[in-house]
Amino acid sequence: MYDVAIIGAGINGCSVAYEFIKEGKRVLLFDKEGIASGGSGAAGAFISPKFSKAGELKELLHSAFEYSYDFYDKNFPLAFTKAPLIHIAKDEADDEALRVYKQNTQLELQSIPLDVQAQLSEDAKKRENVCIYAGVVDAQKVCNDMNCGAKFVKEKVDTLVFDDDFWVINESYSAKNVVLATGAYDMLIQEPYMKLRGVWGHRIDIKTTTQNFYSLHQYVSISPSHEGQLAIGATHNVHYHPEKADKPYDVEQGRAELLHKASQTMNLDNIEIVKDYTGLRSGSFDYLPMLGSLVLSKETLLTCKGSLHVKKPNFTEYMYYPNLSMINGSGGYGFVLAPYLAKILTEHILHDKKISERISPARFFARWAKKR
Ligand SMILES: Cc1cc2nc3c(=O)[nH]c(=O)nc-3n(C[C@H](O)[C@H](O)[C@H](O)COP(=O)(O)OP(=O)(O)OC[C@H]3O[C@@H](n4cnc5c(N)ncnc54)[C@H](O)[C@@H]3O)c2cc1C
Repeated sequence: MYDVAIIGAGINGCSVAYEFIKEGKRVLLFDKEGIASGGSGAAGAFISPKFSKAGELKELLHSAFEYSYDFYDKNFPLAFTKAPLIHIAKDEADDEALRVYKQNTQLELQSIPLDVQAQLSEDAKKRENVCIYAGVVDAQKVCNDMNCGAKFVKEKVDTLVFDDDFWVINESYSAKNVVLATGAYDMLIQEPYMKLRGVWGHRIDIKTTTQNFYSLHQYVSISPSHEGQLAIGATHNVHYHPEKADKPYDVEQGRAELLHKASQTMNLDNIEIVKDYTGLRSGSFDYLPMLGSLVLSKETLLTCKGSLHVKKPNFTEYMYYPNLSMINGSGGYGFVLAPYLAKILTEHILHDKKISERISPARFFARWAKKR
């Protein structure tokens, strides 16, 4: 019997595995394809805050950025490259947002050396920018290293049955707790209020004779160079879904889009494409992540009939799947959010610490139930 079975070995599942192992727990980690085989394997894995004026997501990402930067630096230094990051505005509205961001941020702002300024395109030079200290994660390495100590099972989970006091997985494995970290794939538990948005992304590794020492973010992100190679990512394609599309993804078109967008920020010489990475980001419909227990909708509709339409619903009155949680909906910020959210989730499961209602999946049940 395991203390926890985690389904999905992307950055979310692996971060939860890491936290449980640290607490001395027995961890079972499933993935149908392998470690970091979904969205996590495709990610450029830039660790950056959200450069906007204000908002809940910006605040959450600010806390997660500060936490995760230290987390990767302290625990996985060999999979973490620290490098300054320059975020450049795309248009006038973005110029204004960056001006406000710079006035209000508590992060230490850096100045951009003149030789780096000189490498930028004429358009990029004219735009507002912000430069901070940040980093890039080696996605595959960090996911592999995080689950050291867990039992990894390369198997698709098809069945989850709660039997008295524990979960039975694929009729073969048992665990006290289950964590669903399945990204943009089928969630295994079907609830009418739970919906995710898959956003397809493409990034490339290229060889180039241009040396770049910074992470540059404008229309796409360009990583610092390492041994003559750098990464460019990523596209955002809401129309393509690998499980729903009737024709294969057009890799050439994706490459052309990435190279064109990168060239709007800086000139890259003698390019040779080395590798393509593609995958789905998994986002929620209010852009905030989803962390915590899942509401049993049928049972809650019956037991909370009278209190579902009140202005401020009481989430503690709802009925939940026993010992089952999810960590998902991180959109394009999975590597920034995962260590921070996994810590909160583990403390919630093992020490009953409260999760903010703003990121609890129960918020979607509350909205859905009110509309019915
Ligand atoms: C091109 C691209 C670039 C990105 N760049 C960045 C970036 O620079 N910075 C950043 O922070 N984020 C970035 N992201 C976002 C980030 O990658 C995601 O937010 C993150 O990977 C989500 O992790 P996850 O663990 O939730 O999902 P995934 O990594 O998709 O993992 C889910 C896993 O669950 C497995 N699974 C699903 N169902 C089952 C089942 N029934 N049984 C067994 N296994 C199952 C899948 O095989 C998969 O491996 C990028 C994403 C993409 C696609």
